Amino acid sequence: MKVYVTREIPENGLKALREKHEVEVYGEDQVIPRKELLAKIHGQDAVLTLLTEKVDAEFFEAAGKQLKIVANYAVGYDNIDLAEAQKRNIFISNTPGVLTESVAEHAMALMLAVARRVPESDRFMRAGEYTHWMPLGFLGQSLWGKTLGVIGLGRIGSWLAEAAHRSFNMEIMYNDIVHNDEFEMKLSAKYHQIETILKNADVISLHVPLLESTRHLIGKKELSLMKPNAILINTSRGPVIDEAALYEALKSKQIFGAGLDVFENEPKVHPGLDKLDNVVLTPHIASATVNAREEMAEIAANNILNVLDGKQPLNPVK
Ligand code: NAD
Repeated sequence: MKVYVTREIPENGLKALREKHEVEVYGEDQVIPRKELLAKIHGQDAVLTLLTEKVDAEFFEAAGKQLKIVANYAVGYDNIDLAEAQKRNIFISNTPGVLTESVAEHAMALMLAVARRVPESDRFMRAGEYTHWMPLGFLGQSLWGKTLGVIGLGRIGSWLAEAAHRSFNMEIMYNDIVHNDEFEMKLSAKYHQIETILKNADVISLHVPLLESTRHLIGKKELSLMKPNAILINTSRGPVIDEAALYEALKSKQIFGAGLDVFENEPKVHPGLDKLDNVVLTPHIASATVNAREEMAEIAANNILNVLDGKQPLNPVK
């Protein structure tokens, strides 16, 4: 059968697909232009997509009736119109679990980078500005014993909370649409309304999926509730934060800083954000470890192989 892959992914996934099916991969190191995507997917039995591809009614129409599965190379699937897929009985799958540690580690890296002003001081060194030791230079925030507020206590949020609690003795507050009693017992963590977390946490890390209910979850009002020493971390999806409001809060030093791996209008960042020293920016690389990306490739390939074998996908998204 025919499989289309919208960008080069680790070879292990492509190899597994090639052993059984006819596989074509978009070869350029860029997002596949929409027109080309719509032409290429025509007649395919399966398409392996990235979060940069909008999978909507137009996509399904262009693909045609033999399309059986769209395997998204990501855990998030806000680029996919699930209702349209369901209408056409097309399976959608994602790659949960295998990138949990990598993403949580990146959230931790951002926390430390912002708290201890690592990129800012690296820039200072590279500019040749280090001429003498400075008792008042680059003063940051210590994380030890501080309070971490996790919004969205799923796989990634709970892993980060546990790592922060065990490594930096951080107290954990969390919010989710479900309570997790076992987690609360294990880490002496407390469930709170988001407003309480905003008012009390020293670091707030976002781990919710992008849904209508989480779009602009953090905006001007929410930012105004945060403590002046607070740090905001986002490795979930850009539109969960109102980026213009965050820019204003950072510019006026209303909060201490932010670490962002995802952006509201990715790959663009809000004008001026990249000029501020109190924000650390990374290009959506939270899952970018060799292990995680290879395991994602294996999972995405296996989801396709299963469906083309007439079985259910291993990681269906409904
Ligand atoms: P998950 O499904 O295990 O966890 C999400 C949690 O958010 C769940 O516990 C859910 O109940 C909770 N939630 C949903 N709506 C909520 C709301 N309105 N308020 C509070 N909590 C709510 O998912 P995960 O594997 O932990 O991944 C979380 C998100 O991280 C993904 O959806 C994806 O968008 C993002 N992600 C980003 C990267 C990256 O490279 N930056 C990589 C992987 C995942």
